[in-house]
Amino acid sequence: MIIKKLQNIKKYFLDLLFPISCIGCGKADVWLCEKCLNNIPVNQKFFFPQAGDFFNSFSNSKTSSCELDGILIASSYENILLNKSIKIFKYNFAFDLSRPLGKILINFLRQFDLSEKDDFLIVPIPLHKKRFSWRGFNQSELLAEEIGTFFKIKTAAGILKRIKNTKPQTKLKRKERQKNVKNIFSISFSLPQETLYKKIILIDDVTTTGSTLREAAKILKKAGFKNVWGLVLAKG
Ligand SMILES: [Zn+2]
Repeated sequence: MIIKKLQNIKKYFLDLLFPISCIGCGKADVWLCEKCLNNIPVNQKFFFPQAGDFFNSFSNSKTSSCELDGILIASSYENILLNKSIKIFKYNFAFDLSRPLGKILINFLRQFDLSEKDDFLIVPIPLHKKRFSWRGFNQSELLAEEIGTFFKIKTAAGILKRIKNTKPQTKLKRKERQKNVKNIFSISFSLPQETLYKKIILIDDVTTTGSTLREAAKILKKAGFKNVWGLVLAKG
């Protein structure tokens, strides 16, 4: 309660010092107003790579491989407003942007049948603790919480742990990216058997080559999960 009050006071002064305005149109007091948010396009059932299908892969989980089943891409990095918003979200400590950005993921997921809520488990890509303390929040975890709350699907942020602090992927070439993320995750606790039958939706803000999501899927599949999909806002 006291912490919440202190956070509100801190927010009050921060807003006073650095007044926020819509990244798109400049409207006061919001990071992304409703109108600008609605101008960011949401993809129609878009996956990468094209192999596999979200529904089929989810229905015949017994035939799944040891790889990531696919990546769902909600929108496009070519949209300047989205591109800018993601960068401000991550690098300007604008954690409030998790709400509108989460909405983009929600609107994308609404095209799919997620009515069997117990079949799914949302897992955010974790940050290394060093980067977490620098940023103060994990952007993927905040997005995961938005989705989990909306669809009433369980979010399990504790399953994956990032054990290596790696260089940012954006500064590396494709081959180096794969090497950079090798063995960076561990499963942080022993999982109850029934969890393994759930379909995992891994959440990250963006993907470039998919290396990080693939590495996370590899360890989850090794642990016994049959179905692992990635979901991102955009492919950079
Ligand atoms: Zn606006």
